[in-house]
Amino acid sequence: MKTKQLIKRARAIAKPFRVENGKGFRLKDVDPGDTLDFGAEDKPRSKEALAEGVELLAELQDMLYAQDRWGLLLIFQAMDAAGKDGTIKHVMSGINPQGCQVYSFKGPSSEELDHDYLWRCAKCLPERGRIGIFNRSYYEETLVVRVHQEFLARETLPPELVTRDIWEQRFQDIRGFERYLTRNGIQVRKFFLHVSKKEQKRQFLERLENPEKNWKFSANDIKEREFWDDYMDAYEEMIRGTATEDAPWYVVPADNKWFTRVVVAGAIIEALDSLKLHYPTVSPEKRKELASAKRLLERKR
Ligand code: ATP
Ligand code: MG
Repeated sequence: MKTKQLIKRARAIAKPFRVENGKGFRLKDVDPGDTLDFGAEDKPRSKEALAEGVELLAELQDMLYAQDRWGLLLIFQAMDAAGKDGTIKHVMSGINPQGCQVYSFKGPSSEELDHDYLWRCAKCLPERGRIGIFNRSYYEETLVVRVHQEFLARETLPPELVTRDIWEQRFQDIRGFERYLTRNGIQVRKFFLHVSKKEQKRQFLERLENPEKNWKFSANDIKEREFWDDYMDAYEEMIRGTATEDAPWYVVPADNKWFTRVVVAGAIIEALDSLKLHYPTVSPEKRKELASAKRLLERKR
């Protein structure tokens, strides 16, 4: 397939899941089992689409790196076992590791708790020319911290700043932060891998039953599952409060991992394509320099 067609297809696959205006967004309108017009029998077709997408991503990333002007920040959020790690691994499999930085954010350390909540993430923002991946992010500050407010207490904020408006204020600040990044040439794309409670159970059982997957299991994940509905409410509000045209959310169905990966690859392709990347052009002086370097090299043994 030609590059243009691949880009068109990537856009078409990602578009139905893009949210750039959160008003009125409802999580229950997105079916975690959705696969658009790909049936289960189309798994090979989707694998092929992913392989082609990954190849194209590598080409775009090469230009991003060479041009060294734009950066791309990709944020992944999801319930446990929704497939964040696998998606990152597969979608980014073809790209040059030098141009990509992945950071996983766990519960904050005491040093991190001693700062404002964006601090630890700001230190990990991608440089120009790079793709930065956040596996969890500052959005946890509106998710786990909202569901378990004892985490908020650990942040030792001045008490008068902790009001019922705190979540809305966090959305506002995050929107401002992402607008700031966008205006600095760092594009932001956010992915919520939307898995169903039923599929999560299936994944947990597999982790318990399959010795090669035992390491992924954590007893705490089962405890968090009991807060499922609270998490869904928090995710919905988060998307409503922070989906913008510049920094859209993609709410990606995650019950079929092969499909999730194609959608995520499509969204990243579309983000890079929208930057109209090109290799740096060579100035006439530089061209002369290259020509004389070539002559010199050819003359010597
Ligand atoms: P993952 O669960 O992302 O696949 P993991 O199992 O290797 O990765 P965990 O030790 O479970 O890592 O760390 C992630 C946990 O850290 C999540 O439960 C998440 O909610 C929590 N976490 C992340 N950021 C924060 C935060 N700002 N405040 C409190 N908890 C946080
Ligand atoms: Mg975990």
